[in-house]
Amino acid sequence: MAELYRCGTLIDGKGGPPVKNAAVLVDSGRIAGVLGPGDGATEFIAKLSDERPDIKVVDLGGYTVLPGLIDMHVHVDYWYSHPNRAEYEDETGDAMAACLAARNIRSTLEKGITTVRDLASGVGLKMRRAVELGYVPGSRIFTSAKGISMTGGHGSDGYKSCREADGPEEVRKAVREQIKAGANLIKILTSHRSEHPEYRQEELDAGVDEAHRRGYWVACHAAIMPSCKMAVLAGVDTIEHGTHLTDEVREMMAERGVYLIPTMIAYHTMAKLARKAKEDPEGAGDFRREFLAKHADWWIRTGDMLESQFRKAAAAGIKMAVGTDLVVPDVEFSPYHEEIEFFVEYGYGEMNTICAATRVAAEALGKADDLGTIEKGKIADFIAVEGDPLQDIKALRNVKLVVKDGRVEVPAPVPYYTRWGK
Ligand SMILES: [Zn+2]
Repeated sequence: MAELYRCGTLIDGKGGPPVKNAAVLVDSGRIAGVLGPGDGATEFIAKLSDERPDIKVVDLGGYTVLPGLIDMHVHVDYWYSHPNRAEYEDETGDAMAACLAARNIRSTLEKGITTVRDLASGVGLKMRRAVELGYVPGSRIFTSAKGISMTGGHGSDGYKSCREADGPEEVRKAVREQIKAGANLIKILTSHRSEHPEYRQEELDAGVDEAHRRGYWVACHAAIMPSCKMAVLAGVDTIEHGTHLTDEVREMMAERGVYLIPTMIAYHTMAKLARKAKEDPEGAGDFRREFLAKHADWWIRTGDMLESQFRKAAAAGIKMAVGTDLVVPDVEFSPYHEEIEFFVEYGYGEMNTICAATRVAAEALGKADDLGTIEKGKIADFIAVEGDPLQDIKALRNVKLVVKDGRVEVPAPVPYYTRWGK
């Protein structure tokens, strides 16, 4: 059985002008063809019911159809998002983490995010499998398995989501362990909220070399200088955050084609919480208030720099993709639309931003052959939204239908699950 989706407007993710009255043909989970009005889409559809009763027509004539969105930076089960770490650490803690992850990746799917990149988690590998098997409805997951950091480094307080490793040989071993476990890519963390880099150059070089030698890409958490420069010199594929880049490093990134995932919503949120914590360090309401107060000045300074950093990165020609990375209790998992809206607010343009959320993200995943655009031969991941996101990017919030792997996933057809949410 094939399906034909009639699209009011089609934005295919390649960056060209939108096409009115297009149609997307899906067969066995892949896109079998894309027809514009010039290709006789209307006539083709009109004749379908007589000539091709095997093709089911889905009418999205009132909507804008775009490629499925991709969140390039999540932690599906990070314990920070859960109010009580102790419940992660007892003998049934993994079950709690898995339940949280299941809720999280269902929520992303409902927002039109068909793929997430999980950059360090405890249950990401199993959750990826659970989604593939259909045990839980959710976004497709690419995971780094555990993140790799130096002893006591950034991320090492993550419960089961981090592997501490020191020295070039141990970093290599940690990379090998993640590959053996089934990771899709490698995540290395090398900076904290201070001006001191964590890994030494030789450790970063070893980690990246080991991953690349085996054909795996490397995502690197680097927010400060000189960590960002060291990561770029080591040859990482994506810089996560990059909040304190210099002109020199921006130039290097653009030249070498290193992607930047700016995750501005995470830093804006932390700056906001830090301000609150500074005003009232004893106050209740956030169990991390003491920690926030300690680093408040760094967060606030970094938050104030986000817009200018983003504009400079764009002007330097660095390729950017959309990721969220927010792990705070009582804050929405993957506030993706807010991140997208920062891109537009800071001058990136609606079409460029849509590409950063789709095609460029798929490239930065190394999956451009399968994902990121609505083109013949690709996996059928797309969404229908009400309104015109090229006029108002907020239209991306009005998701009416999500197709993943050629199946309609939202509205959810499954009656077994209690609907999570608002
Ligand atoms: Zn992160």
